[in-house]
Amino acid sequence: MGDSLFLTFIGPPSCGKGTQSELLKRTYNVNHMSTGDLLREVIRKKTQKGKEIQKIISKGGLVPDRIIMDLLEEKLKVTNLQAGALFDGFPRTIDQAVGLDHVLGGRQRRLTAALNFEVDFHEIIKRVTGRRIHPASGRIYHTTYKPPKTPGIDDITGEPLIQRKDDTLEVLQQRMEVFNKTVSPIKEFYKAHNLIININANKSPDLVFEEITEKLATLGITKTF
Ligand code: AMP
Repeated sequence: MGDSLFLTFIGPPSCGKGTQSELLKRTYNVNHMSTGDLLREVIRKKTQKGKEIQKIISKGGLVPDRIIMDLLEEKLKVTNLQAGALFDGFPRTIDQAVGLDHVLGGRQRRLTAALNFEVDFHEIIKRVTGRRIHPASGRIYHTTYKPPKTPGIDDITGEPLIQRKDDTLEVLQQRMEVFNKTVSPIKEFYKAHNLIININANKSPDLVFEEITEKLATLGITKTF
């Protein structure tokens, strides 16, 4: 088995998975795979499949496992696994968790840990409703916590920022319902594999990142720079 870093995140919407992925990617030099981003890429192509996916996401539901596993397989084909990977927003069902084990096992790899982001609901509401995205790069801002230099504009390109259609209070409630229904079995699955690391994700991104790196260091995983 190779010992590259393979992490997955468990956490409610806006728990900071995306932000931490960016920091971890830079620090440990690993690939970042967000199934949400892969799905949004399909949606941008405006195919029939993209339209169906859009419908599901805009209602806060879960995209079928088959579609998710196919997207992941495709992405892995063009990924250098030697560098390791962060699986962001995946798995969201037990079948996906089992699928991930198979996919990695088939490539002589295995998951290092499942980071369980714990965050209070009132904090989630603040984060979701203030989140703004630069669609082309995936750069994430927040109207209060991380405002762009000019409101509504990406700092680097000067292009407009958007609010994700599923970042509204109504869709958040549906996404939370889906999360609460599906999270327990996934946590149990990774607990049984002794892979869970709890992270207090109520704090600022820097402090959350510090906690993650400290906990990874106890597993013997150190920064690459
Ligand atoms: P995210 O960007 O991770 O918050 O995902 C946005 C939306 O994409 C979710 O609310 C789901 O509708 C869909 N989605 C992302 N990843 C998955 C997954 N692994 N399984 C099913 N649906 C997903």
